[in-house]
This record gives sequence, C-alpha cells and structure tokens, in this order.
Amino acid sequence: MTILDAKPGIIQKCQICNSKNIYEILDLGHSGLCDSLLTKKDINSPEKSYPLKLLRCKKCHLLQLNFVVDNKEVFHLDYPYKSGITKTLKDLLHSTSRYCVNNFKFSHKPLVIDIGSNDGTLLEGFKKHDFKVLGVEPTNIAKLANKKGIKTIQKYFDKSTENYIKKNFKKAEIITGTNIFAHINKLNTLMKGVKNLLDSKNGIFVTESHYAVNILDEMQFDSIYHEHLRFYLLKPIILLLKKYGFKVIDAVKIPNYAGSIRVTATLNKNIKPKPSVLKILNEEKRRGFYNSKKYDQYGRKVEKIKKDLNRMLWKMKLKNKRIVGVGCPGRSITLLAYCNITNQLIDYIAEQNSSLKLNMFTPTTHIKVIDEKYMIKKQPDYALVLSWHYGKNVMNNLKKKGFKGKFIMPLPKPRIVN
Ligand SMILES: [Zn+2]
Repeated sequence: MTILDAKPGIIQKCQICNSKNIYEILDLGHSGLCDSLLTKKDINSPEKSYPLKLLRCKKCHLLQLNFVVDNKEVFHLDYPYKSGITKTLKDLLHSTSRYCVNNFKFSHKPLVIDIGSNDGTLLEGFKKHDFKVLGVEPTNIAKLANKKGIKTIQKYFDKSTENYIKKNFKKAEIITGTNIFAHINKLNTLMKGVKNLLDSKNGIFVTESHYAVNILDEMQFDSIYHEHLRFYLLKPIILLLKKYGFKVIDAVKIPNYAGSIRVTATLNKNIKPKPSVLKILNEEKRRGFYNSKKYDQYGRKVEKIKKDLNRMLWKMKLKNKRIVGVGCPGRSITLLAYCNITNQLIDYIAEQNSSLKLNMFTPTTHIKVIDEKYMIKKQPDYALVLSWHYGKNVMNNLKKKGFKGKFIMPLPKPRIVN
C-alpha cells in the first residue's frame, strides 16, 4: 500500500504504514507553533494552539504526532529560521557535501537539488565542490539564498514544482533533504517527485532526520513540535524508501540537531549497502527500540523533568534572582510551554542580533526575545540555556562576550553549571 499524504487534523492511522495500531506515549499538552512568534499586539489577542502528543506505531515503529497542522501554516512566508545563523550549524550542514564527495562518484558538474533548502547554507557546501545547485524553499528565506547566488525556487515541493524542474534542469545526481521526512505532510508527493527527478543509475537521495534513539536516550522531548510530524528509527526510514523503489545503501549517525541519522538511498538495485545499515538495525533491535517496553517509562520521566525544572526556577525567583533565557530555537517553545516557564519566571530571551526573532514574543508563554547585548549589559543571575543541544558553544560564547552569571541546563536533567 502506498503512503497517503497526511491531511491536517487528528491522525487516525500510522503516517507511513497505515496501521491503526498506534498509541500515545507522551502528552505535551497544547502549544502554539514554534516558528510563529507573536507581536505585542498578538499577545493581547486570542491565540491559537494545537494538541501535541507523541504516538508510536506498533507495526513499523514510527514515532509521530497525533495532530497535523497544515504545512502552509507552519512554514509561513515569514518563517524566521535561518540555517546559516551559527558557525556550528553551518559546519554541520557543509558536512553533507563532504560526505557525498568522499563516498560517491559523480560526473562533471552534476546537479544537486536540496528540498527545503532554507537560506542555501547546505548547497553552498556543494557549490565549493563544483556542483550545479538548486534549492526549493517555500518561505521568504528563499530570497536570501538567491541573493547569495544559490539558485532557489520559492515554492513548496509539489507536482508543479517537480514538473518545472523536470522541464528546465537535467536529472539530479544528488537530492538532499534535511528534516524533510519530519517536516513535509505530503510524503507521497515528496517521494514521487524525488523518484522522478533523480538519475536512476548514479543518483543518490540523501536525507537527514532527527534520530528517535537520541530523542529517547537524551530526553529530547523539546524537539517534539508541530514542524516535526514524525521521528525515525532507521527501520521505518527503510520501509518508507522501499515503498518507492529506493534501496538504502548507507546510514550514518551525525551530530546535527543533537543527534540525527543520515540515510543514503538509490534507485539502482545493483549497488550494495554498506555494513553500517545492518549494524545500526541490529543495534536498534538489541537496545529494545522495537519493543513497547522501551517507551512505557518515557512519559513519566518527562513529567519529572517538568516538575524539577519548574521547581528549580521558582526557588531562584523567590530569592529574587533574575533569570533569562538564552537562544530561541524552535524546540525552546515546547520546553517553555510544557514546563510552564512563562514571562513570570523568565525576564526575556537573549538572541544574537542577526536573529529574525528579535522583539517578538514566544507563543503560549509570551516571553520577549531581545538582543543579547542587553543581557551582557544587565548581567542577570542565571541564564537558562534553551539551545542546550549546543550548550558548550553557547556558554563559551557568552562568557567570551562578558556574561558573568550562572547557566542552567534544562535537559537531559535540569542542573546548574558554573
Ligand atoms: Zn506504522
């Protein structure tokens, strides 16, 4: 059975295998969309929020949200995320091109297409290796990419975009997509499009997805938000690709977004998979990730973090300590909303001045995002590290810039770091 494009609303069946054998493993309450920050006017108006529960499919082991928000609402024109915002992330995104060039052979000036290409940072890596690059990005971030000279089509990746590319470009030898298996609700449209645009003999399709093992092992429940419809082990990715005639030939664990898996697939049945594929599958099985027991305790552990973190912050607050947040990645919205960390507890969130979120407010919790220079000037007592997944870098940078207070790491276990 093919995969159906997920319709906005409540999920009734597994999003990739259609099984009805799906059940709830975690309830994070309701939350606003994490990349739809609010203006001052918005926070005095009625506010939209959506259910946020994590389900698990017993048949194919896919973890998935219980509710699909329309992609057009999630990835709106003013979507404020720029992938090239930090040097760390830039380096990680350039690792995709290094990986491709080091592991596979290509013709002269081959075409690479990146789906969901954001500001073109990933493609810049390929350009250095003399690839012809093409991005597809629906939000206004596409304009930034085009300005930088990374050719980008500002559209959703749908049938008409596919036809346009087919008409105007040669077949791609590489198609990349970071987080597309999580982001795109129309998986069927995506996979058919990739299949039609990829060179069937030498082409590779490289995807990077947040790895479900890390989400469980490291209590990364904050990465559960409406942009991420699905969380993958390797096994369901193989199933998804197989349905469209793709064979997985390599799988590598990478550090991006605090633990992702890079999976490479081809339409050429003669290429042999690398040993890493079987190795990772065996590891998932041995560690019990195909077994319900593994997931039973997760919800309770997450609840304990909520209580501990909230209590820790209130204790500080009652001693008149000033607490601010640092970094406002998408995941911070889930953490703040679920743990009830509102503007009563946190004075503001400090972000670098290149951030598109400055002077906006977080949905649900209504904390203002401001230039980090203000924080350095005011020297609050504690900084809650909301981009804790890059915690060491964040702390070192702020210390270098002159912050003298203490840091609070919220996850995997709330703790104070001097
Ligand atoms: Zn399933």
